[in-house]
Amino acid sequence: MKALEDKILAEGKVYEGNILKVGSFLNHQVDTHFLMEMGDEIARLFKDSGVTKIVTIEASGIAMAVAAAYKMGIPFVFAKKHKTNNISGEVYSSIIHSFTHDTEYTIVISREFISKDDRILIVDDFLANGCAVNGIIDIINQAGAKVVGVSAAIEKAFQNGGDNLRNTGIKVESLAVIESMDNGTIIFRK
Ligand code: 5GP
Repeated sequence: MKALEDKILAEGKVYEGNILKVGSFLNHQVDTHFLMEMGDEIARLFKDSGVTKIVTIEASGIAMAVAAAYKMGIPFVFAKKHKTNNISGEVYSSIIHSFTHDTEYTIVISREFISKDDRILIVDDFLANGCAVNGIIDIINQAGAKVVGVSAAIEKAFQNGGDNLRNTGIKVESLAVIESMDNGTIIFRK
């Protein structure tokens, strides 16, 4: 999505450890008009996929999920981050390793909100190593539902999460795909 690439170049800041900050329009302050344009694009990309529900992870995925779900006319569910391993039987759970923060955390989704008939689109703000998405896929599999695809606003392709998912046959459509950002210079995949 050319408009997103332009916005990343104009407003994004590259930090040590290959972290891109887009706090001016997505991760801290939110540009709601632009958010809805990204939602439109995701809705267009998955319009024929029979998606019944979007799933994301709190907190940073929620804005993208609101926009996409609203434009598709379907609900979204956000996995909650859980600090303890004291998980009740009423939820599906999975453990995720965060390279960004070098921590492990558990995500949970109530069993009541995913059923085996659901066709799920996973939406997030960033797709890097793919750990967050794989945790969601684990939960979707536990529920016996179908993963229809993955859509991130920004994919950092040099961390391979997106391509690893594509290699398993999952449709991955990121709105901007960054090939490299060495020395702070952002290069997009053609
Ligand atoms: P993954 O699990 O694919 O390695 O990382 C995805 C998650 O880590 C996203 O949900 C996002 O919140 C966070 N993340 C990964 N890389 C970045 C980044 O460069 N910038 C920001 N703001 N978040 C990131």
